[in-house]
Amino acid sequence: MRVGMGYDVHRLVEGRDLVLGGVNIEYAFGLLGHSDADVLVHAIMDALLGAAALGDIGKHFPDTDERYRGISSIKLLEQVRELLADKLYVIENIDATIIAQKPKMLPYISKMRDNIAKALEIDVDRINVKATTEEGLGFTGEMKGISAQAICALNTITNYQYDDIMAERGCSSCGGCQKQ
Ligand code: MG
Repeated sequence: MRVGMGYDVHRLVEGRDLVLGGVNIEYAFGLLGHSDADVLVHAIMDALLGAAALGDIGKHFPDTDERYRGISSIKLLEQVRELLADKLYVIENIDATIIAQKPKMLPYISKMRDNIAKALEIDVDRINVKATTEEGLGFTGEMKGISAQAICALNTITNYQYDDIMAERGCSSCGGCQKQ
């Protein structure tokens, strides 16, 4: 078992969409960043890369690279899934917290979990997303920014039955064609 943690912050500004967990959230402000600034997905990616000892998102997706300008962070999460697959890691679970004074996140949490599960090709019950305020304190309380924290656990593929892995990936037959 390997664990990883991730933390990220983005500044709230006018004139940007607020995207969290791949969900466009109705709000007067959005997060500033090179990509879509999805602070939740960024924290999750850093947790996953950390658990796999693969560095961080800045190493894999530098904000100086024009390929990543405005990109959906869910697309980057899909690339993280591939990096983990290359190392034969299986995601046990992810738990994440969005820290924001506003807006209310509850109506969007289910869709965020769905988006993250789909990008990672894992069951949605392996992903938990929650939200909290900081009671008006600090930069999130003053609505200057939103932060997110995530933790995850990875296992190695050798601890899993091969058929279980193929079933998780949606292979309905023996899976032998994908074994190599
Ligand atoms: Mg970020």
